[in-house]
Amino acid sequence: MKGYTGKILKVDLTEEKSHERTFDESYARKYLGGQGFAVELVYHGVPKGSDPLGPKNVLAMAGGTFDGFPVGTGGKVAFAAKSPATGTLAESIMGGSIGPELRHAGYDALEIVGKAESPSYIWIDNGTVEVKDASDLWGKDTREVPEILKKRHGWDVKVACIGVAGEKLSRLASIDCDDRQAGRAGLGAVMGSKNLKAIVIRGTKDLVPADPKKLLDLALHYQKIYEAAPSFVEDTKYGTGEFLGWVNKDRGVFPTRNWQEGVFNEREKIDPYYWATRYVTKNKACFACTKPCGKLFEVKSGKFAGVAIDGIEYETLYSLGGACGNSDVESVAKANELCDLLGLDTISAGVTVGFAMELFQRGIITESETGVNLAWSNASDAVPKMIEMMGNRKGFGDVLADGVKVAAGKIGKGSERYAIHTKGMEPPAYDVRGMKGHGLAYMTSTRGACHLRAGFYAPELVGKFWKWEGIDRFSAVGKGFMVSQTENFMCVYDSVGLCKFSRGFYLIAKLPEVIEAITGLKFSEDELLKIGERIHNMKGNFNAREGVLRKDWLLPARILEDPIPEGVSKGSKISVDEMNLMLDDYMKARGWTSDGVPTPEKLKELGIE
Ligand code: SF4
Repeated sequence: MKGYTGKILKVDLTEEKSHERTFDESYARKYLGGQGFAVELVYHGVPKGSDPLGPKNVLAMAGGTFDGFPVGTGGKVAFAAKSPATGTLAESIMGGSIGPELRHAGYDALEIVGKAESPSYIWIDNGTVEVKDASDLWGKDTREVPEILKKRHGWDVKVACIGVAGEKLSRLASIDCDDRQAGRAGLGAVMGSKNLKAIVIRGTKDLVPADPKKLLDLALHYQKIYEAAPSFVEDTKYGTGEFLGWVNKDRGVFPTRNWQEGVFNEREKIDPYYWATRYVTKNKACFACTKPCGKLFEVKSGKFAGVAIDGIEYETLYSLGGACGNSDVESVAKANELCDLLGLDTISAGVTVGFAMELFQRGIITESETGVNLAWSNASDAVPKMIEMMGNRKGFGDVLADGVKVAAGKIGKGSERYAIHTKGMEPPAYDVRGMKGHGLAYMTSTRGACHLRAGFYAPELVGKFWKWEGIDRFSAVGKGFMVSQTENFMCVYDSVGLCKFSRGFYLIAKLPEVIEAITGLKFSEDELLKIGERIHNMKGNFNAREGVLRKDWLLPARILEDPIPEGVSKGSKISVDEMNLMLDDYMKARGWTSDGVPTPEKLKELGIE
């Protein structure tokens, strides 16, 4: 096979042993790479009913089909495991260099099982694999760890690691590589549960494409398209927060103060059009990105002086900004940096702090319990302080360290009414009361409330996408089919390793020629979508097997009962009838039972065992 190494490396931390196995073209055709490989390893590798924080859980990591080749924005890596946050099969896609490096070391995927007896890291030096002592790394942050390991093994090695939050098994813990994070669903805690602090790789082997000239021509062609797009200038100058003002004012769906409002009236103070010229010192990018939306944001003076982060992303402007009523952009940057260093997912961590702030507003919790004044008016100080306490499980931070669902269970006193989540995962930055199909996508996302599993925010905000026009974001009709299709579509992107911000350029019909130039394998658009459908069904079937059914997918009370109080989406919410209509339509479109279980016929059709 061209374009693949054809090998998967398995490391058993209990036994301190590793072995490689090969795969053939039929495996590549079935799962493609990246997310497809990672999901397959977890689906077949994790026994039913396994504790997500136990040794039987599998942590899989796989580079996308494009990883290691010159495809602009095509260097993403997929992690997957049974999630300690949701109990579902969860994957997370990251822009760090660890995926391409794994492939250059000779492996398309890494499967990690067992539990090391003491803090350890995995060291892969091309074909040599060792489990090494990490006791000197335990307690260190995500910047210190790579620095120590690069001094030890050489500055050319790539490092993925966890922070203290992962060691302390926070269900919000992420995995870091190059200041890029595999967040959501607590995969950092899975690493921590295995006493695994880091994965260190040196890969210097060649990856051979099927048609190098064709691949280079395509790379140059798409780079010209990227650079000619109007969004290129805006994205590279202002980053992913570039459309914050538009989402907030023109669509009225920027969740504010724990989703009590859909418009953040102090938005200007955290908008990149305000801060980009004042705080950004250079662009930063994911590995292999040729249209960088990342920024180096530096605070040079004041109480947060010294902060230097890769950000601030749109989602983080919401979670540590609007969701907490925090309009101090330096405080948002400080909290973002703490999340990154401690290894906490910024979306879930920020939403959890916002939840605690609403409980404080309502008198359900008080300063004598929290140790911090959580009033909205004190957000600038309170948000970074609480993030630090959560990551270290200090004081009230321990109550919040596992997210809103677990925290509400500990706090009681009616706090569950204010806990915004689906399947136990906190939602991203789109108020779905004014985007009903995206609300369905929060429910059907196999890893819990997510904007990226279907990416349905874009079609609903813009009103058109792919093969559809005139999409009405306030309507629930027809959304079941569309969401099922875009989920399949996104599974393909996460398997080839292409950034989702490139999906408007590389529509799915464009992918077959790039895949063929790399691998020599021919696919039609429909065949790629069938692979996406297979991957999604595997996740759905795993979740049903673990007892996570439709009754567990439902939207929280705030979205069903409290209309958006102001702005252009004022009065909108998703009614119970609309929720059920969309879910029924979705199950029919998927060929699943009304409870959310893939039928035997569907599994057989997709070749899933
Ligand atoms: S566009 Fe942004 S998120 Fe996508 S690969 Fe480039 S830097 Fe990463």
